[in-house]
Amino acid sequence: MTPQTISIFGSTGSVGVSTLNVVKSANARETRFNIDVLAAHNNVEALANQAIAFQANMAVIANADKYADLCVALSGHDIEIAAGAAGLCEAAARPCHRSIAAIVGIAGLPSTLAAVQAGNDVALANKESLICAADLLKAEALKSGAHILPMDSEHSAIFQVLQDRGDVEKLTLTASGGPFLDTPLDQFATISVSEAMAHPRWSMGQKISIDSATMMNKALEIMEAAFLFDKKADEIDVVIHPQSIIHSLVHYQDGSVLAQLGEPDMQSPIAYALSWPDKRLHTDVKRLDLSVLGQLDFYPVDPIKFPAIDLAKQALQAGGAMPLILNCANEVAVSAFIAGQCRFMDISLIVEKTLAAYAGLETRAVSPNSLEDVLKLIETGRQIAKKFLI
Ligand code: NAD
Ligand code: MG
Repeated sequence: MTPQTISIFGSTGSVGVSTLNVVKSANARETRFNIDVLAAHNNVEALANQAIAFQANMAVIANADKYADLCVALSGHDIEIAAGAAGLCEAAARPCHRSIAAIVGIAGLPSTLAAVQAGNDVALANKESLICAADLLKAEALKSGAHILPMDSEHSAIFQVLQDRGDVEKLTLTASGGPFLDTPLDQFATISVSEAMAHPRWSMGQKISIDSATMMNKALEIMEAAFLFDKKADEIDVVIHPQSIIHSLVHYQDGSVLAQLGEPDMQSPIAYALSWPDKRLHTDVKRLDLSVLGQLDFYPVDPIKFPAIDLAKQALQAGGAMPLILNCANEVAVSAFIAGQCRFMDISLIVEKTLAAYAGLETRAVSPNSLEDVLKLIETGRQIAKKFLI
């Protein structure tokens, strides 16, 4: 098979590193993938090491102040170097077989959009982009012919078992419940950043770990599923499944339910997004043995402890810019929590207040359809949310 070209935006993060692991183990059997672009925010040393180890064609550092450092780190190597927001978008527009959108937060939108506009198939981990700009990304994908392929484990599961012949009744996203599934609500006030970071099943970046602890990650995933699979809020359920073995389920009209199972390891959904529509890649992921596991548990979500799920459904039902506003409020609140400016339990509260305040505005926007409109709305959402920081 002719090697295929992969570019990774957010290569030094948790998903980025897992993607490079998948590439490495696939290439150990036969050279399946070449790396064109690797891009990161600040970590020059990690980016340069990756670029050298994987013989990337180009390395991009989003923080333009680090350009000179990257040049020093890559001197003597035949690797193109770029920096800053424009460098990131130009790199994203270079043709490739798969563009991995693995930047965290709304910062990932410009490069994801540039990749889609260039007609590159995007493997999407960066759910925040889709939530903020679903109509825009989907319209541009339609124009350019790009596919937006899910890489989030739940959405990959649905993608793998979805036979959409107009007979799907609903989707169920599974949720581990995060580190505070069994923590009484009256202890939520004193939860620290390091406690919130300690996810029982998945090893992930800081923001998504905190999102998992508040279950805002599942809230974002409801919206992500709605946009990826064209479903409404009442067609998407969430069930707590602490073992994270069933990654999600599709319910059909005849009563059949199809699920995808596997050990909780991002390498499986990443491998699927890299290989689709060709045959699956071999990975080193631990093999699932149900007889050893013995038991799988399921519970409903406690809406008082985890109000994020209801907030996402309300935002989806309201439509327009509400999903974007929810995402912006959450990004503001999570940063504030990390900086010690608000408590853990304030995160969902800030999101709720921001949504209510935005809903009360007379100048509410419809769903934005240009990057400029999206960026303006993001600023509006951020400004409203900041007012609710105590
Ligand atoms: P992370 O914090 O580990 O890594 C983030 C990456 O983005 C880093 O490479 C960083 O350099 C880059 N980055 C951050 N800000 C940037 C900016 N302004 N410009 C350019 N690059 C920037 O995050 P992660 O856990 O790998 O998550 C990445 C995305 O994937 C998130 O949207 C997350 O929700 C999603 N996701 C992650 C997992 C997981 O297992 N970690 C699973 C599913 C989905
Ligand atoms: Mg997920």
